[in-house]
Amino acid sequence: MSEPFAAPAARSLGPVILLGVPGAGKGTQAQRIVAHYGIPQISTGDIFRAAADTPQGRELAQYMERGELVPDRLVCAILAPRLQQPDCRQGFILDGFPRTVPQADWLLTFLAEHRMSGARGPIVVYLTVGYNDLYRRLAGRRTCPKCGRIYNDFSQPPQRPGLCDLDGAELVQRRDDDPAVIRERLISYEERTLPLIEHLRRRSCFHQIYGADPVARVTENVFWALESCRDGAA
Ligand SMILES: [Zn+2]
Repeated sequence: MSEPFAAPAARSLGPVILLGVPGAGKGTQAQRIVAHYGIPQISTGDIFRAAADTPQGRELAQYMERGELVPDRLVCAILAPRLQQPDCRQGFILDGFPRTVPQADWLLTFLAEHRMSGARGPIVVYLTVGYNDLYRRLAGRRTCPKCGRIYNDFSQPPQRPGLCDLDGAELVQRRDDDPAVIRERLISYEERTLPLIEHLRRRSCFHQIYGADPVARVTENVFWALESCRDGAA
C-alpha cells in the first residue's frame, strides 16, 4: 500500500473512535491506523476476554450468560485501566465503544480528567456506507465449508461459480449475509446510533467519511482526518 503520509507519528495522536455499521470497513481502517501510527487498537471484546479472571470479569460473565445487556458502569470500569496502560500514551483506537450516549459521556469525562485528549476532544471517524455498498460487500460473500476460504461474487469471485478454487467444495452463504438481514442491520444500526453520532459530533473532532470508496482512498481520507485533528493542526 502507498502511504499518503510519509512520516510516522512523531507527535501524540490521542484517542480515536471508529464508528460505522458492521461491513463499513472499520476493521481494515483500524489495522492501517495501527500500522501507520503505532497505536494500539482497543476492542471491548478483547478487553472482556482479558478481564475474565477478575471480579468484574466474573460479573460480566453473569450478564452475558443470562443474555442481558452489560451495564455501562461495568463496561467503563473494565475499560478504564486498559486506557491507562503505557502503550496508550500516544493514542489508541476504540472499536466497539462507545455504543451509547452515557458511555460516550463517561469516556469524554474520563479522557478530559486524564488529559488524554486535546481541546477539541477525541477524534471520531464515522465510516458511512449505503445499502447497495453493504449489499455488495456482504451479500456477495461466500465461504467454503471445507477450508474456510472467503470469496466475494463482486470483488473476489471463485474461478468456477459457486465452487471453491482449492478443493471444489460448494460455497455457502452465511445467514447474516442475507439481503433482508443486511437491510435490517443497516436500519437498526442507524436508528440505534444516531443519538450517539449527534452527541459526539458536537463534542469531538468529528469526521464523516464515505467508506465504500476503494480501500486506499478511504485510508487516505481517514489519515487526512486524523492529521487535521491533531493538536496544533489548523
Ligand atoms: Zn475450500
